[in-house]
Amino acid sequence: MTRAIASAEILSVGSELLVGETRDTNSGDLAADLSLRGVQVIRISALPDRLDLVSGAFRAALDSADLVVSTGGLGPTPDDLTREAIAQVCGLEPHVDPGLERWLRDMFARRGLAFVEANLKQAWLIDGAASLPNANGTAPGWWVERPGGKVIVALPGPPREAWPIWQGEVVPRLELRGVGADRYAETLRLTGVGESALVELIGEERLRAANPIVATYARVDAVDVRISALGADGRSAHDLVEAMLAEVMPRLASFVFARGVETWVDALDRRLRGRTLATVEIGTAGQLGVLLGKADWLVFAELLGAGSALAAEHRGAKAFAARVREVAGSDVGLAVRVRERGGDTAVTIAVALDGQVTQVTRTAFLGGESGRRRAALLACAELWTRLGP
Ligand code: AMP
Ligand code: MG
Repeated sequence: MTRAIASAEILSVGSELLVGETRDTNSGDLAADLSLRGVQVIRISALPDRLDLVSGAFRAALDSADLVVSTGGLGPTPDDLTREAIAQVCGLEPHVDPGLERWLRDMFARRGLAFVEANLKQAWLIDGAASLPNANGTAPGWWVERPGGKVIVALPGPPREAWPIWQGEVVPRLELRGVGADRYAETLRLTGVGESALVELIGEERLRAANPIVATYARVDAVDVRISALGADGRSAHDLVEAMLAEVMPRLASFVFARGVETWVDALDRRLRGRTLATVEIGTAGQLGVLLGKADWLVFAELLGAGSALAAEHRGAKAFAARVREVAGSDVGLAVRVRERGGDTAVTIAVALDGQVTQVTRTAFLGGESGRRRAALLACAELWTRLGP
């Protein structure tokens, strides 16, 4: 029995990627999907349309990974060299596959196009390779099994061709072949704590450990703590992650507003428990609306310019929070008002809830758009805190 595929390398082929004309989105999409399936992606490379470099990259990748996936370089033109590179690495001569040739000639005939011989390249195969049908273009992909159980997958460059082949042809083959080590990960999303403070809370030793890996990421809307593990020594990856969670959760719980790919909308949704919200934001250029706009419990959202007469009418945010709740007839009212101050952004946040209006003042790091975005996040965090567990 062959070993399950546990590691992968991704090669993005095309000179356009190296001059920044095309952004490499394929490798990120593939990496995300492979990781989800428990395959560790150990390297992503972008390569120009040069046979020596592309075949060298395939050779090196086959040395270190169980699976090598490439995108690009499958077109009919002489600069598309991925097939040549794979054939070279495998020490095999490509031949024209009669079935593929028929399919290709048919396709041109149906479209009333003359068949140019250069297209024949797209009907090439090597021994041990299967072609992967491309429903959205003329370049089929390749699935190549190597002696020793390693696999090469070559996909065309355009995402709208590569992705359906990946999902429809490659993933089922990978699953049949056995894919993924026992991996598990959990992400905690935190608010009100910085990355450096987290080092203290989690402890340096845990942050340096190899399994589970505990890593922190400063995102726009949160600081994320990702705990990921590989099953080892008779313990499942899930067990290892749960054990680490049990260790760190007591220190982190008060900062955790969401898990995984959840957002502020999900976190507030949980704490609102069916109650409705009305908001008024002043001087934020609509950043709160950007964050909460798609929530169905947001029944009213007012945006005032910092210099508007209405904004000048009430000095504090408290009056606005109470007023917007009343006007909208919602359960909760939220007002956020920002002013740039000394390069940072002063934020006043008021929440009208259960017959009470509370107000806090915070400072958002930096001014301008990033300050306003942070101000809106502070408003979400304050509302979340006020709503309580
Ligand atoms: P090819 O298969 O090399 O003929 O690729 C043709 C087209 O696919 C390119 O001109 C790009 O528009 C697109 N493409 C190629 N590689 C990538 C990639 N890594 N990410 C996103 N688009 C790509
Ligand atoms: Mg190309």
